[in-house]
Amino acid sequence: MDNLPPVPPSAANGDKDGNQGRSLHWHILGGNNKHRIGMNSGLCSYSETDSNGDKRSWNILFDAGTMSSDPRNLEDPALTDCDTVIPDYANHFRRRDDANHKPAQPVDAIFLTHNHSDHMNALPMLLLMGYELPKIYATPYTAKRLEQELSNAGLDPSEWPQIITIAPGKPVQEGPVKVSAFWVSHSTPQSVGFFIETPEGNMLNPGDFKLDQSVVWGPAFDEQQFQRIVNKPVDLLLLDSTGADRDVVPTTEEDVRDALRDLMEKYPGKRFVIAVMSGFEENVASVAKVAAEKGRTVWVSGWSHEQSLSALQQTGLTLSDSIGEKVDVRVLSTPRSIRDLEESRPRDSVVIVTGAQGSPGAALTRAADGHHPGLTLDPQRDIVLFCAPVIPGQEGQHARLMATLKNKGVKVLTRADAPLYAQAHARLPELIEMAKMAKPKTVMPIHGDRKLRESCANAMEKMGQRVISADNGDAIRITRDGCHSAEPETKGAPKLVGFKTLQGATWSDRHYLMKTAPQPKLPEQTQDAANVNRRRPKIFNVNPK
Ligand SMILES: [Zn+2]
Repeated sequence: MDNLPPVPPSAANGDKDGNQGRSLHWHILGGNNKHRIGMNSGLCSYSETDSNGDKRSWNILFDAGTMSSDPRNLEDPALTDCDTVIPDYANHFRRRDDANHKPAQPVDAIFLTHNHSDHMNALPMLLLMGYELPKIYATPYTAKRLEQELSNAGLDPSEWPQIITIAPGKPVQEGPVKVSAFWVSHSTPQSVGFFIETPEGNMLNPGDFKLDQSVVWGPAFDEQQFQRIVNKPVDLLLLDSTGADRDVVPTTEEDVRDALRDLMEKYPGKRFVIAVMSGFEENVASVAKVAAEKGRTVWVSGWSHEQSLSALQQTGLTLSDSIGEKVDVRVLSTPRSIRDLEESRPRDSVVIVTGAQGSPGAALTRAADGHHPGLTLDPQRDIVLFCAPVIPGQEGQHARLMATLKNKGVKVLTRADAPLYAQAHARLPELIEMAKMAKPKTVMPIHGDRKLRESCANAMEKMGQRVISADNGDAIRITRDGCHSAEPETKGAPKLVGFKTLQGATWSDRHYLMKTAPQPKLPEQTQDAANVNRRRPKIFNVNPK
C-alpha cells in the first residue's frame, strides 16, 4: 500500500481556461437491481471539452461488488445455475492480454466504501478474467481485506493493482474531481462515505451506513466531521435503501450488548456458542466486550471470522484496545487451543462461530452435525445464540440447522427472544436524518431491491425532497440546477457475468464456470507465471460471445 498522493493546490474550483463544455454523470453499473441485493457499483464520470473541441474525461468507480446466486435467475434469465454474479465491466477496464480492447469509459481510479463482498469482491474476479485494474483507494482495514481476497483468489502480489490507503481529512484529487471520505457506522470497521466535488456539481455517497454511535471498532459516524467535510451544496444524494421499509427505532450494538449481559447473568454457568454473520465484526466486538466484562475467554471458529480478525490485527486494530479492557481471544484451530477449550469451565467461555445461516461448511453447522474437530455441542453445557436474521434464500439450510440443534436438545435463542442483532443498514428514521443533514437538491435511492428503493423514494418525497429513481444501466446527469435521467454513454441493458463454483470448499480449491463473457487469452507463460497459474482458481468460459 502506498501513501496518499499530494493534493494539488488547484482544487476543483470551476472552469479552466478555454473550457467550453462540462458534464457530470452518475452511471449505475450495479446495485439498483430488480429483485436482489448486491453487486453495488457506480461510476462518476466528469468531462470537459476545450475550445478546440477536445474532450477529456475522468471516470471514477465507487465500489465493485458481487451478488450471490439467484436460484430463479430473475435479474438475468440467461444466468442459469450460477452462484456469483457481477456486472460486465468490458466498457470500463482495459485487458492485459488485448491491446485492441478499448473500453468506452476507462476507469481512472476505484474508491471502496468498505470491505463487504457486495462492494468489493468483483475486483479479484475481474483480475482473474484478464482485466487490468487502476489504483484503488480504501481505508487501511478495507485495503487489508482486499489484499486477503486477492490472495485467496490465487493472485500473486505482483499482479495486484496499486492500493492506496485513505482517511477522512485527507481528500484525494483525481483531476478536477475531489473525493473526501468521512466515517460512517456500519457492521464492519472503517467504513466510509464519500463527498465528491466537481466543477459541475457535488455528490454525496454515504455507502452502506447507519448512525449507531455505539459501534466498538468504528469509527462511528460523526456529525461534526460530516458537516466539516460536506461543506458545499449537495446536488445529488445517493441513499442506501436496504433498510428503507423499516420505520423503527434501530437496534444498536449497545442494545445487543445489554441483551448479552442479561443472558450471561441469567445463565451464569453455561457456555455460550454465538453465531455471528461474516462481515459483522462489530457484532463480534460486542460479544467480546461483554465476555471481557464477565471474565470469559473468547474462542473463535470459522474461516471468515478468522480472516477478519487477522486483517484487523495486521491493520493494528486489537479488540482489547477497541474495547478498552483486556480480552482473551483465541482461535479454535490448533490441537492446543482445542484441548484448552475442552478443559475450560463452561462459565469461563464464549465461542463465536460462523454458521448463522446454516451454511454446510460453517463452524456451527459442522458442530451441530458432529463434524467439527474442536467443538461439540452438549445440551447440559451449551446455549446457542443466533445474532442474525435469516437471509432470504437461506431459509432451507437454516431450518435444517435449527432442526438438528433441536434434536440434540440444545437450547437455542434467536433475535425473536432478545435483541441480539444490530442491523447493518440505516432504518427509515436514519435515512430521514441523513437527508436532513445533507440537505440535497435531489435524492436518488440506491441498493436494495425495487420495492425498498420505492419505500425510500416515498419517504423522501413525503419530506419534500426531489427524488430521481433509476435502475442498473441508467445514467443521471448532475448539474447545479438539478439532476435528470440521461442517455448512458454505453447503451443497452447492462450485461451481467455469472460464475458457478465447480469444486472445493475453500477459495483456493475453487474452479469457476464463467458465463456470458469472453475467455481471457492467457499470455505465453514464463515458469513463474505457470507456477502462479497453478495456484489460481481457474475460470472456464462456457458461453463465449
Ligand atoms: Zn456493507
